[in-house]
Amino acid sequence: MANTDHTPTLQETDEKYLWHAMKGSAPGQEHTVMVKGEGAWVIDDKGNRYLDGMSGLWCVNVGYGRKELAEAAYQQLIELPYAPLVQSHVSAIKLAEKLNSWLNNEYVFYFSNSGSEANETAFKIVRQYHHQTGGHSRHKFISRYRGYHGNTLGALAATGQAQRKYKYEPLAQGFLHVAPPDSYRNHDEGNPLHAAEEIDRVMTWELSETIAGVIMEPIITGGGILMPPEGYMKRVKEICEKHGALLISDEVICGFGRTGKPFGFMHYGVKPDIITMAKGITSAYLPLAVTAVKKEIFEAFSGEDTYDRFRHINTFGGNPAACALAIKNLEIYENEKLIERSAQLGERILNDFAELKDHPFVGDIRGKGLLIGIELVKNKTTKEPLEVDTLNSIISTCKQKGLLIGKNGDTVAGFNNVLQLAPPLSITDEDYAFIVKTIKETLAAL
Ligand code: PMP
Repeated sequence: MANTDHTPTLQETDEKYLWHAMKGSAPGQEHTVMVKGEGAWVIDDKGNRYLDGMSGLWCVNVGYGRKELAEAAYQQLIELPYAPLVQSHVSAIKLAEKLNSWLNNEYVFYFSNSGSEANETAFKIVRQYHHQTGGHSRHKFISRYRGYHGNTLGALAATGQAQRKYKYEPLAQGFLHVAPPDSYRNHDEGNPLHAAEEIDRVMTWELSETIAGVIMEPIITGGGILMPPEGYMKRVKEICEKHGALLISDEVICGFGRTGKPFGFMHYGVKPDIITMAKGITSAYLPLAVTAVKKEIFEAFSGEDTYDRFRHINTFGGNPAACALAIKNLEIYENEKLIERSAQLGERILNDFAELKDHPFVGDIRGKGLLIGIELVKNKTTKEPLEVDTLNSIISTCKQKGLLIGKNGDTVAGFNNVLQLAPPLSITDEDYAFIVKTIKETLAAL
């Protein structure tokens, strides 16, 4: 007789009903069920504690368990849970004002719900802006291989990682790619700004009058923490200006202190025309994303005709509770000086990891703020990437020791060899010491 007493475990029910991100239906996959978070730590249903060295998906910047964030959302939900942004509400207004205090009062803000949406919104604004300023043929966007910009058909078209794309084609049209700058692999042909100059050439060859804009992260994150050479982003901005194209800085990961400045572009002496943000704006406590647009661009949408307006709407964009929570979250960055802490700990960790450079498999250690990559190679001269199985085993050893870290994932191009570390900016000194010790011990045992 069948045993009817068995109460399914959470894992069994999970396997039955949940389709996980980046996963299919192969049986026997293990998914850790997280039940609680405290500071930089998360705890699973079996009571195991892990230091979240990836801040979830590079997003829980202020750490877990912040009651004041829950409180801010709760109060707003009681007061007014929803107002569409065809009208307005107090928390959206205050958040826009607060964001502008971080941005020299030069931008207006369109709210949505995810990084992908923020980028889609940016593409539409840029195309329409060109239409309204006489650039009717300007529709093409240039981005870099290895960069990630989201999962929707436009943001994925901008993404430069073939393995995420090739089964979903055709994607949105009009997206071109160039090689990323990569100070370690350095395909610079003798000119450190070679990768930027390639954008100039592509714009010329494609005809400037067809180019709408460039989208880039200041530092490519998910594609392997690729550090640009000095002057790269500034040169890209100059090239955009030369060809009449707009520059979109994708700050979905680099924003909100991750790199040790409020926004990544602030390291590089440029002012982007558009800035896209998500993740760290609410530290992922609630979904919220922003497309920040230079006021001059917004002013091109001043026509009385409805078709001169931005024909774009999101039911949930700028949800009041998410906005109220985001305001509080920005106050935490300010009050606890978390961005400064990210900058300081970033310098410290590169120093503390310096000795790892002698390790036979460590090709490069790089980053800015609490955005750190360790590139592993089989051979330091040829820089042949270490196989992904070894990275997976490093990641699982770290997890057994109580530290969650990540890796980049361009399996098609063979680059799956960069360990990634992006802990909450609020980590304590003990947390910091634990991360350094665990990674050193794990690599030493290789
Ligand atoms: N841009 C970048 C740089 C990202 O890393 C991501 C997500 N990791 C996105 C856009 C898309 O964000 P979302 O997953 O919120 O749609």
